[in-house]
Amino acid sequence: MEDLGKISKAVFQERTEILGRLILGLIGRKFGHLLNQEDCECPHCGKGMQRQGNLCRHIETLAGEFELSRPYFYCRECRFGYYPLDEALGLSE
Ligand SMILES: [Zn+2]
Repeated sequence: MEDLGKISKAVFQERTEILGRLILGLIGRKFGHLLNQEDCECPHCGKGMQRQGNLCRHIETLAGEFELSRPYFYCRECRFGYYPLDEALGLSE
């Protein structure tokens, strides 16, 4: 990149991804424990649930877009799937 104009243009064109990475970094700082959570309690019956793996979700915000990989939990008693991070971020429908 030769000059500031070109650098600015490149940053502007990539802004959605750049801001998305920034948002993801802030989520990691504030909710790191929920990104690496291995077990939690079922919000319905209170039974312990083990992490079933991680699932990805594409997130679009006003500022940026990113892929959010977060732990998934499932309660067999309640037949209830649960993402504690989505809950904390206000993403659950
Ligand atoms: Zn349950």
